[in-house]
Amino acid sequence: MNAQPSVASLKVATAKPAGVRCPQLDEADRCRLFGDPRRPAVCSSLPPSLEMCGQTRQQAMVWLTALEQATAP
Ligand code: SF4
Repeated sequence: MNAQPSVASLKVATAKPAGVRCPQLDEADRCRLFGDPRRPAVCSSLPPSLEMCGQTRQQAMVWLTALEQATAP
């Protein structure tokens, strides 16, 4: 797994607990703040990758859960 911003900082930036869908996601799972200066810096610093995103939402959630556990304070 590559070095990535901690999921804890993402939770703070989006004001949501772990495992809760970001309120900025639209119905197609796209960020409503993409390209908007209000998008949290931690989100912009986390580039998408096939490793992280996988081919399905379920694959992404497995990876993100592992990332959260690996970067927990
Ligand atoms: S990139 Fe957008 S949808 Fe994803 S966590 Fe950040 S603000 Fe939420």
